[in-house]
Amino acid sequence: MADRPLRVAVVGSGPAGFYAAAALLSSEEPRVEVDMIERLPTPWGLVRLGVAPDHPELKTASRVFEKTAALQGFRFLGNVEAGCDLTSEDLLRLYDAVVFTVGAQTDKRLGIPGEDLPGSWAATEFVAWYNGHPDYQELEFDLGVERAVVIGNGNVAVDVARMLARTREELAPTDATDQAIEAIDRSGLHEIVMLGRRGPAQAAFTPPELKELGELGGADVVVDPADLELDAASAAELEADRARARRNVDILREFAAATPSGKPKRLVLRFCVSPVAILGDGRVEAVEVVRNELVPDGRGSVRAVPTGEREVIPCGIVFRSVGYRGVELPGVPFDSERATIRNNGGRVLDEQGVQVPGTYCAGWIKRGPSGVIGTNKKDAVETVDALLEDARAGRLPEAHDASADAVDALLVERGVEVVMYPGWQLIDKLECARGGPHGRPRVKLSSWDELLKAARG
Ligand code: NAP
Repeated sequence: MADRPLRVAVVGSGPAGFYAAAALLSSEEPRVEVDMIERLPTPWGLVRLGVAPDHPELKTASRVFEKTAALQGFRFLGNVEAGCDLTSEDLLRLYDAVVFTVGAQTDKRLGIPGEDLPGSWAATEFVAWYNGHPDYQELEFDLGVERAVVIGNGNVAVDVARMLARTREELAPTDATDQAIEAIDRSGLHEIVMLGRRGPAQAAFTPPELKELGELGGADVVVDPADLELDAASAAELEADRARARRNVDILREFAAATPSGKPKRLVLRFCVSPVAILGDGRVEAVEVVRNELVPDGRGSVRAVPTGEREVIPCGIVFRSVGYRGVELPGVPFDSERATIRNNGGRVLDEQGVQVPGTYCAGWIKRGPSGVIGTNKKDAVETVDALLEDARAGRLPEAHDASADAVDALLVERGVEVVMYPGWQLIDKLECARGGPHGRPRVKLSSWDELLKAARG
């Protein structure tokens, strides 16, 4: 192995994948070549398909990824599905090491009756739809209803509530799909209600995202001052060093004190309520909630304990936004409780806690779905440091066929139409050209056919 670069497959092309690739390619001893394997013809993961279209500043993270993609030794293999087009065994035969950075592909379930009624959606589906993910364009969200309920108090819930509240003028300059802009503009929504199971001091959303809700052109934010009366445990939590919580509570107090200015939509933020059932005859008609009281959890915070007080909130559509969940990959050890790949600092471990040679992970599939884009940099560097340490110590298994030619030959043999980086650049160029005249960053191609056709040139 000494006279050739180490060949590493990075599976997944979101932030964790790109940060891992950058760290790998910066190694001088050993030198490293990276093949980034991605199921879609497009890179960037949630930066392209998760970050809200009205947050273009967050999407600029992709500029850093473009620099990594231009480094010598980097290849993008899009439209290649790991576990299918290339199995785990193939990867270990073709590469010296594999780093899984596949994120968290599905949503956490609430486990309540009515969760699967038509009109009850995972927030992740809505997010993928308005962002132009090619697997989600056939979904039909019935927004012709008066009230939507968003369950959860994280930044994804805020994204969904805010996107629903946006006006056509606010959405027009974004890269949301035309279909989504049209549907949101034409919606009959008057009210969007966000439900937090704990109090304002425990909300998972961050102050800038919360504050932005007060700046919406077409919606007033409504907060009941009674919801902001803190119980003793929450007050103590605020007193402890919780700058984010304190800022959130301050912003919520400003919202509660403001007089609604009569904008067409209301965005209502509620706290200490948990959904117990989604009700409806054949489709969503209401959410039944229970009022919670907050009791100390013994770890410096509080947990929600249901009281007997119930309430039915009529609504026509529900978005469940209580967190993402990782999905097991065939042949890769999985901790189903945490919904992550079993690992220690990015080194994958088997059921017995023994390191699986040559196999690593980074990002949400390593630590769970938390943190912002930049959090993945430190996380990926930790994994890559472990990988390089193992390489230097001779702990990587021998790859029998470690060459780009062997990978390409196998993919040709299996009839896979690989989209390489220049193919993605053609897609990118076309999308940007479609957006430019309308003052939009891009108009996305959102079907597999369109994407593959564009990539072929
Ligand atoms: P999250 O931050 O973990 O929030 C999940 C929310 O769901 C919490 O409020 C949680 O409440 C609630 N929840 C969980 N189980 C529940 C249940 N059974 N019933 C009711 N509520 C329940 O997850 P996320 O919003 O999906 O975001 C994922 C990550 O992406 C986060 O780190 C987030 O900050 C990040 N993100 C960032 C941005 C941005 O920077 N603009 C945008 C989107 C996402 P408890 O606290 O009580 O558990």
